[in-house]
Amino acid sequence: RNGFKKENYIISVDVGTTSIRCHVYDKEAQIRGSCVTKVNLLYPEPGMVELDPEELWMGFVKVVKGAVQDSGFQMCQMEALGISTQRGTFTTWDRKTGVPFHNFISWQDLRAADLVRSWNNSCTMKALHGVAKALHFLSRNKRFLAASLIVFSTQHVTLRLAWALQNWKRVRFGSASQGNCCFGTIDTWLLYKLTKGRWFTFLCMCWSELCCFLLSLPLSILPKARDPSPPPPPQMADQQAAMFGECCFDVGDVKITMGTGTFMNINTGSQPHTSVSGLYPVVGWKIGPEVVYLAEGNAADTGTAIKWAQKLELFSDVRETDTMASSVADSDGVCFVPSFSGLQAPLNDPKACASFMGLKPSTTKSHLVRAILESIAFRNKQLYETMLRETHIPITKIRADGGVGTNDFVMQLTADLFGRKVSRPTRHEMSCLGAAFVAGLGVGMRTPTQTQI
Ligand code: ADP
Repeated sequence: RNGFKKENYIISVDVGTTSIRCHVYDKEAQIRGSCVTKVNLLYPEPGMVELDPEELWMGFVKVVKGAVQDSGFQMCQMEALGISTQRGTFTTWDRKTGVPFHNFISWQDLRAADLVRSWNNSCTMKALHGVAKALHFLSRNKRFLAASLIVFSTQHVTLRLAWALQNWKRVRFGSASQGNCCFGTIDTWLLYKLTKGRWFTFLCMCWSELCCFLLSLPLSILPKARDPSPPPPPQMADQQAAMFGECCFDVGDVKITMGTGTFMNINTGSQPHTSVSGLYPVVGWKIGPEVVYLAEGNAADTGTAIKWAQKLELFSDVRETDTMASSVADSDGVCFVPSFSGLQAPLNDPKACASFMGLKPSTTKSHLVRAILESIAFRNKQLYETMLRETHIPITKIRADGGVGTNDFVMQLTADLFGRKVSRPTRHEMSCLGAAFVAGLGVGMRTPTQTQI
């Protein structure tokens, strides 16, 4: 390509769990215009979390227009669009009319918890693990080892999609069997809307026919898996985009994103990696022929725990939590379990109860806030130890970002518990920046370096 023209810019949108943000970046990766809007989460029943697909699309359009207007440039000067989205949130829609069959089912939704438990304990899963272990023993191929350890979780799409097919006739009969149903995560939905359904892309891997067969998921509803290059427009999942934005390009680089939930990722290079304790492999990115894999562990309730405490009026602004926690010597023996959506790796209990323990007449609001912030750092420590124990990859650097990553108390306690430096960039919106970097690479922008962030 001819290179990136000075007067052209890159738009990057990050669809998070709580907000949709858009920035216009120049070729030095400096923000020249921004716009943000809230994501409206719906709670139709306890444990269920949904989003309205049309409202999300309108929010996307609004922030793109708003950011370009804020920059003072013209839409025609925007050379590339990068999109980063929360993962594991999906909907299905009618291929002909484009009308969704139901709301997005969020990654936080627990409706498939019973299915997850019964599948993970099933003879079929045990038999599959046995076969994969035997194949690993015979071939020493690490992919079979990884397959022998995979377990389902409520945050992964698979069993929530199986739930939707089992429970909603309109998805099952109305279209799936006639090949008229489209399944998509938020990125696919946005692309469908942007291109009026003419273009599907993204995954460079292929769908597992075995998995679809076992769970009776029709392959026909899945979007085509294609190589993401050449652009436009590259979409990335939020954690992969944040990893790229943090310049975690080398094996052993770790990033911790603390937003609505916590996501800890380690770059495992060309090998996918999974573990008995619930770390799972994800494709990081594919630039040229090389696929980079990440292993990931997560804790679902980070920002949600802080927001909940705000709703109870323990404080009025989330930024106060830092000084409140530091104003007391300890939590007065109070412990908080951050598990509104269960506990993930290494505990893997989708039905774990959130609770405060050790409350006393002397307990103050500051003690409660400190216990909540400590619980976030303790979950970081659990994930970090799991990563050390199970990947055996020497960790080269640790970077942290996300809204809760701006909290000094959480950051310091995390670094103290790890016993090593955890650095954070001057900006914390790494998913948006990462998607902009990848979009920029496609139009001649140079490879990003850590000094840019
Ligand atoms: P997401 O991308 O998942 O929507 P963000 O990375 O935007 O999340 O982070 C938003 C979360 O960060 C909110 O839950 C908010 O309460 C929390 N947050 C923001 N600033 C602070 C702070 N200084 N201390 C604690 N929590 C914070």
